[in-house]
Amino acid sequence: MRIDLHTHSSVSDGTDAPAALVRAAARAGLDVIALCDHDTFDGLDEARAEGLRIGLDVRRGIEISAELGGGSVHLLGYGCRADSAALAEELARIRAGRAGRIPAMLARLAALGMPVTPSDLAPFVGDSPSVGRPHVADAMVALGYVTDRREAFDHWLADGGPAFVDRYNVGVGQAINLVHAAGGAAVIAHPWGRGSRNRLTPVVLADLAAGYGLDGIEVDHPDHDPSARAQLRALADSAGLMATGSSDHHGLGKVGNDLGCETTEPAVLAALSARILQRGGQT
Ligand code: AMP
Ligand code: FE
Ligand code: FE
Ligand code: ZN
Repeated sequence: MRIDLHTHSSVSDGTDAPAALVRAAARAGLDVIALCDHDTFDGLDEARAEGLRIGLDVRRGIEISAELGGGSVHLLGYGCRADSAALAEELARIRAGRAGRIPAMLARLAALGMPVTPSDLAPFVGDSPSVGRPHVADAMVALGYVTDRREAFDHWLADGGPAFVDRYNVGVGQAINLVHAAGGAAVIAHPWGRGSRNRLTPVVLADLAAGYGLDGIEVDHPDHDPSARAQLRALADSAGLMATGSSDHHGLGKVGNDLGCETTEPAVLAALSARILQRGGQT
């Protein structure tokens, strides 16, 4: 059984519509995926309907934009009930922060000699309720300022970059609490990926496990080298955290994150599902 628990659709910053993503996952030989769009559940109904139709198990997921010590941390929530008002309110606040920072980012780009108008941006946002820097990057590609998303991030949009504008994020401890209150299981995404390694130290991760009941960490992720994986796996063992593995697929938007390039052990998925059932979540 091949399981990929971290994928994105065009409902956030992936490039495949939810149903197309599910068909691509089947072609990639996967049996189970979780759709983890940024700060929205809006793609799940379409993805799960397509999963039922073609026989692929699509799990409920979300990737919440959280923060720790003033820096960004991504929290995956699995099995959260859709009817949790507290979680829905927080996600709406995060999405409002996403939309609210866009004019300032476009102003920065204009000042840098790379004007992007709201109508340049609109086709890339599409009907996503969760606008992000990758959509801005896509518009910059279309306007010929950069060749791909990576170049847009590396030169302009990355945290602290010349066109970067910060936005509201929920504290990671509060985000874990909200996931649990919605019946879900909380897993830190790519803890030692871009930039977060200095904040998500082994001590901090162990504290999130002991203090907030963090359920797991994403160990096998394209951003982690073999030594990071070995250290994170040892940490997961010692802190009683589940260790997941996933692609973080964004369609054409991210190179090196092909569906199923990293996978989660069936026993880990079973443990995750058991915890969700125990908390009254939705598998
Ligand atoms: P935002 O959601 O606006 O904070 O933008 C962050 C998103 O940008 C993340 O979800 C990543 O998927 C994406 N991202 C970050 N760095 C890169 C990169 N170098 N190339 C492509 N996508 C990136
Ligand atoms: Fe993303
Ligand atoms: Fe992420
Ligand atoms: Zn992701």
